[in-house]
Amino acid sequence: MLNAMNISDNSKQNAPTKSSQTVLVAEDDAVFRRVLERQLQNWGYQAIVVEDGTEAWEILQQPNPPELLILDWMMPGIDGLELCRRIRQKQDDRYQYVVLLTGKDEKEDVIEGLNSGADDYLTKPFNIGELRARLRTGKRILALQRELIQAREALRFEATHDALTGLWSRGATLHLLESEMQRGARTRTSTGILMVDLDHFKNVNDTHGHLIGDEVLKEAAYRIGQAVRSYDFVGRYGGEEFLAILTNCTLADLHMVAERIRSAIADLPITTKTASVKATVSIGGVVASKGAHDLEFLAVADSALYEAKRTGRNRVVIGKCDPRPVLDETFKCSSGIAHA
Ligand SMILES: [Mg+2]
Repeated sequence: MLNAMNISDNSKQNAPTKSSQTVLVAEDDAVFRRVLERQLQNWGYQAIVVEDGTEAWEILQQPNPPELLILDWMMPGIDGLELCRRIRQKQDDRYQYVVLLTGKDEKEDVIEGLNSGADDYLTKPFNIGELRARLRTGKRILALQRELIQAREALRFEATHDALTGLWSRGATLHLLESEMQRGARTRTSTGILMVDLDHFKNVNDTHGHLIGDEVLKEAAYRIGQAVRSYDFVGRYGGEEFLAILTNCTLADLHMVAERIRSAIADLPITTKTASVKATVSIGGVVASKGAHDLEFLAVADSALYEAKRTGRNRVVIGKCDPRPVLDETFKCSSGIAHA
């Protein structure tokens, strides 16, 4: 069967490339398998060679499967066409570039192969140099695909995150709050929010300029992010206002995290390039009552924050959300946080 493959080009003389791209070969003919494996290795690819479609399909189910595939059309078990169809049905971000090997050369067969999801095909016997060139095309397409995914991910990040602090944007934060509250209602757990506002931030900008102001905002955002629990969300809600969403949160959790945020900002001055800035935050918080609407919930946190500002700043005030927004006087505190 070796003569079925026309190894007539001089590609063997070329030095192997440094590419470590993995190619999955599914081919039931032992001679073809050996030749393909040797050639792929010569070209610098890592070759995974299997005897049938079923084995190939198993490999494709594993994490980080190969993206460059050479599939024989006629194989026992799952044939090349069926494999193509399955690959295209997978809901996966990773694209697999498929070169179908076929002994058929009727036009209808080629159309069937491409319709089933193959990117390219080679009719046996084929020129080995042609296969090499087609694999290069596949690599180019895969590289473009990766760039596209990266660009899309970058756009998605930009659309949902604040450029200065890297926190969730206001829109994304409100969206997260809505979905967290819905999730809380389903799982019968409470969601807490903390509205955190830098005190007298205008003074920082007026005294040190906006660049230092931005540095202070970035550092404050970082400290708030470190102070919440790993599964909480923090967004930049406004200029110097942040919103923390605490999932599965009791009143005690809310107090603990709020105080951690307050002291994370107040305990250590923020060192910037040219100035050391003493900053504090006022915090208004609330734990959602059953059936509370997220806007009502935000209004309570906002009133609590206003109360924290009014009563001297650098403090936490926890509001009540049930049945209508009323401040819980017992949780007001004069410095830091008081307990009921
Ligand atoms: Mg075959």
